[in-house]
Amino acid sequence: MQPSIFNVRVPLADGGDVFLMNTFTDAQLIVSREVSDLLDRLGNGGFANTASAEEREAVHTLAENGFVVESRETDRRNITSYFDSYRTNSDQLRVTVLTTLQCNFACDYCIQGDHGEYNKTAAKMSMETAARVGDWIQGRIDAVRPKTFALTFFGGEPLLNLPVVYYLAERVAGMCRENDISLAFNIITNGLLLTPELVDRLTAFAPLGVKVTLDGDRDTHNRMRPLRGGQGTFDRILKNVRAVADRCRVAIGGNFDESSVDSYPALLDFLREQDFADKLVKVAFKPIIRESKPKGFIPLTAVGGEGKPLNGACMTSAGSGVSATNACDSCNFLDDKMSFLREETVKHGFKTVDGVHMGPCEIHKQHSHTIGPEGSLYACPGFGGNLGESTGHIDNRQDDLRSAAAKRFAKITAWEDCNDCAFIPVCAGGCSAAAHVELGDINKPNCHKRSFEAGVVTLAQQAARQMALA
Ligand code: SF4
Ligand code: SF4
Repeated sequence: MQPSIFNVRVPLADGGDVFLMNTFTDAQLIVSREVSDLLDRLGNGGFANTASAEEREAVHTLAENGFVVESRETDRRNITSYFDSYRTNSDQLRVTVLTTLQCNFACDYCIQGDHGEYNKTAAKMSMETAARVGDWIQGRIDAVRPKTFALTFFGGEPLLNLPVVYYLAERVAGMCRENDISLAFNIITNGLLLTPELVDRLTAFAPLGVKVTLDGDRDTHNRMRPLRGGQGTFDRILKNVRAVADRCRVAIGGNFDESSVDSYPALLDFLREQDFADKLVKVAFKPIIRESKPKGFIPLTAVGGEGKPLNGACMTSAGSGVSATNACDSCNFLDDKMSFLREETVKHGFKTVDGVHMGPCEIHKQHSHTIGPEGSLYACPGFGGNLGESTGHIDNRQDDLRSAAAKRFAKITAWEDCNDCAFIPVCAGGCSAAAHVELGDINKPNCHKRSFEAGVVTLAQQAARQMALA
C-alpha cells in the first residue's frame, strides 16, 4: 500500500487541517494533520508495524477514496486504461465546423480578420461542401451510434456564413431525431451578428450555447477588437447579448495581454450590473495567442518557426471552449494572471473554470472532429485550417501528409513524460496545439502546473469555507 501519485495536499491556514484531493477519483476531503501524516508514513514504510486500529481504519477510508493504492503500477495502470476508455468512448460525437476563416473584426492581435486582403482569399464553406459535410456526419452517426451529439460552429467568424450554419443545423437535427440522439449546438462568435432571429432558428432544433468574446472594459475592448475603420464594437455586442440572454446559454470569454489585463475587474463590475448577469453560464478569460512577441506583451506565442500563426482558426479562441463544461479553456493560459482573473470572476458572482478540472481536452477523443471550410479534417480546433496538420478529408481522400498526421494524432501521450505529476488525470500533458508551436512536438508536455496548483488552493479555500458554514 502507498499514497497515490495523484494526491494533492493543501494545508489550511487555521486549525492544522489539510485539504486532500485525488485528481484521478476527484475525491476531496478535509482531514486532520494526523490523518494526512498517515500518507507520509505509508510512503516511507513507517506505517505497517506501528499503526493503531484507528489509524488502519482511517487508511481504509483513504483507500476507498483513491488516496491509497496498492502500488505505483496501480496508478499507472489506472491512468492508462482511463485515457484509453476516454479516447474510445462513443457516448458523444463532437463536430466543430469552421464555416469560414473570414472575419469582420480587425483585432490588433490577429493577423487574420479584416486586415489588408485577408478576407478576399480566406476560405469560406460552400453549400456544396456543406452538403458533403452533412453526408460525412451521417456516416459518423451510423458508425459511432452516439447517445449525444455536439455541433459547434466556429471560424473566422462563423456567422458570416449563415446559410451553412442553418443548413447543417437543420440537417444534423433531422439525423439526431431519426436516431434518437440528444443534440446540442454551440457557436463561438465575436457577437456582432448575433440576433434573436438566429438564436430562435437554431433553438427550434436543439439547445444552443453561445460564447462571445469581450477583451476587457469598453475602452480596452474597443481598442483590442475594432472594426476595420477603427470603430468600437463593445456597445453593439452588449446590446446583442442582452437581446439573446433569455433565449440560449451565453458564456463570455476574453483574451488578455499585459496592456489589457488590469481592465478586466472593471469589465466584471460592468457585467455584474447588467440585467442579464445571472443568466451568463460562464465567464472565463485567457491570454492572447500572439503572432509574435512584441516588446511589452506577455510572451505567449502560438507561432511556428517560420512565424506562421498557430492555425487557420480564429486566433482569439484556439479551441472551442464554448459550453459551461468545455475543456478547451485550458489552452495557453498564463498561470498567475489566470489565477488572479479566476478569483476576480468568482468574487463577482460568475461561474468560471476552477483551474483544476480542465481536461483531458477533446484532442484525446477519437470521436471528436474539426472540419475546415473546404472539408479537411483536424484533430481539434487548435489545428483547424492548418492543412499541414490535416488528418483526413470528408471525401476520404488520403495523401502522404494526411496519413502521417492521422498516425501522429491517433493517440497523444505527452503525459507519459510527466513522471509522477499529480495533475496527469486532469491535464494529460497540456495543450498539444501549443506544444506543436512552442516545442515542435505534439507529444511533449506543455506544462502549466503552477496554474493547477493555484486552482487546488482555491478549491481548498472553498471547501474550508463550506465546512465553516456547515
Ligand atoms: S489541444 Fe489545445 S487547442 Fe486542441 S482541444 Fe486541446 S486544449 Fe484545445
Ligand atoms: S504538463 Fe505539467 S501539469 Fe500537466 S501533467 Fe504534465 S507535468 Fe503535470
